[in-house]
Amino acid sequence: MYRFYISNITNDYHYAELARVFLSDDEFEVIGIDTPEKSLKLRDGSYLINRSGSDDREAIKREFYHLLSTLTGRSSGWGTLTGVRPLKLAYEMLDEAGGVDGMEKLLSERYLLSSDKISLLREIIDYQTSYSDGDPSSKTGLYIGIPFCPTRCEYCAFASNVAPESDIEKYFCNLLEEIRFTGKLCRDHRTVIESVYVGGGTPTTLNADQLSRLITAVKEEFLVDPEKIEFTIEAGRPDTITAEKLSVMHSLGVNRISINPQSMKDETLDRIGRDHTADDIRRGYKLAADYDFKVINADLIAGLPGEDLDDFRATLDEILSLGANNITVHTLSVKRGSRLRENDPEYYRRDTDTVSEMVSYARQKLGEAGFVPYYIYRQKHQMGALENVGYCIPGNHSIYNIRIMEEKQTIIALGAGGIGKVYYPDEDRLERIANVSNYRIYNERFDEMLERKKGYYI
Ligand code: SF4
Repeated sequence: MYRFYISNITNDYHYAELARVFLSDDEFEVIGIDTPEKSLKLRDGSYLINRSGSDDREAIKREFYHLLSTLTGRSSGWGTLTGVRPLKLAYEMLDEAGGVDGMEKLLSERYLLSSDKISLLREIIDYQTSYSDGDPSSKTGLYIGIPFCPTRCEYCAFASNVAPESDIEKYFCNLLEEIRFTGKLCRDHRTVIESVYVGGGTPTTLNADQLSRLITAVKEEFLVDPEKIEFTIEAGRPDTITAEKLSVMHSLGVNRISINPQSMKDETLDRIGRDHTADDIRRGYKLAADYDFKVINADLIAGLPGEDLDDFRATLDEILSLGANNITVHTLSVKRGSRLRENDPEYYRRDTDTVSEMVSYARQKLGEAGFVPYYIYRQKHQMGALENVGYCIPGNHSIYNIRIMEEKQTIIALGAGGIGKVYYPDEDRLERIANVSNYRIYNERFDEMLERKKGYYI
C-alpha cells in the first residue's frame, strides 16, 4: 500500500482520482496535510508531495503524476487530467493563450498531455469551429428518456429496464403529459429548440404507434420543425427495429438515428447480455438504408470482455461497410450500478495496451475513410484512462452531443432518468434539474416531476 502525503491541499479528491489512473483503490491512500511537518516520518511506500508547500494545484498534480509514473512504469496520454471534459479545458486554454500554438503549449506543459491527445483535441476544435452554429445559449436542447430495453447489457448503468407492455404504456402516457406541460412552458417563454434527442434505454422499445404519438407531440408542443433542426431517436438495439417504426420515424421528420452494434461478434454480444446477433445488426442497417435518414450513428466499444484487436478491427471495418456516417468509439467504462462492476470491479485495469491499440486503429481507419473527430468525453473507470470520441463524415455531426459537452446551453430533460441543466450565460454556470431515474417512482411522483419543470424558468 502506497501512502501519499500531499501538503497544503484542501481536498484530496482530484489527487486520488489521478492516483486511480495508475493504481487500484486498495493500493494507495492519499492523505492531505496542512504543512510539510518536519516530524513526518516516511516509512517504506510513503511519499511526501509538495514539500515546499506550494499552492499551485497544477504544479502539485504534475509532481504527483511524475511520481506515480515512476512507481508504476506507466504513463497516461491525458497527463494530469482526470475530468470528463478535456475539450472544455482546451477551449479555456485557447482563450487564455490567445491562439492554437499557445493552447498546445499549455496543454503540454501545464497538464502533461501527450502530443497525440493534443492533436486529437485540436482536430475536434478545428471541426467544431468550422461548423459553428451560432451562440449556443440562445437556443435550448430537448432530451426525452425512454428507460426500457429488451435486456440489460453487462456494462449498463443507465436508466434501463426490461418491462411489460402495460408498464411501458403507463409510463408513456405520463411522458406525453410531461411533454405537453413542458411544451406549454417553453411556448410561453418563447424558447427556441435547437435539437431533440430521444435516448434511454432504447426508444425503439416503443411500438410504432407510440413512436408516432411521441414525435407528433414533440413537434406540436415544442413547435419543432424537423426540416430545420436535428431530431435524433436512438434505435440502439437492432432487435427493436422494424420497417414500420423506421417508416414512422422517417415520415414524421426524424433525421438522425443510432443503430448501435457495440460489436459484430456473436460470442461477445451473447457475453454482454444483448439478446441479438450480428445478423440482426446487418438486417437493421439494411432496413434503415431504405429510408433517407441524414445521419446514422453506430456506437462501438473498445475493450469488451473477450475481444482482441482483430475482433475490434473486424467490427469497425464491417460497420463502415454497412454505411454509418457517424461512428462513436467508446472505451469500456466499468460504471457503478453495472453488473460488470459487481462481478469484476477491476476489469478496466486489465489489457489496457490492447484497448489503446483499438482506439488508435479506430482513429487511423476512420480518418482514412473520411471521418473526422467532432466531440469527446471521458468517464470514470474507463479502460486505460482513455476516452470516447464521436467521429463523423463532415456535416453529419450531432449538435446535441456537442452542446452537452460544451455546457453552454440549457438542456431540458423529460422522462425517467432525464437530467436537465439550466445555463446562466452571465455567470457561465449550469444548474441541474433532474427527474428520478426509476420509471415506477417517476409514475408515482409524477406531479412532482411536472413541478420541477418550472425550475427551467425561475
Ligand atoms: S442498450 Fe444501452 S441502455 Fe439498454 S441495457 Fe444496453 S447499455 Fe443499457
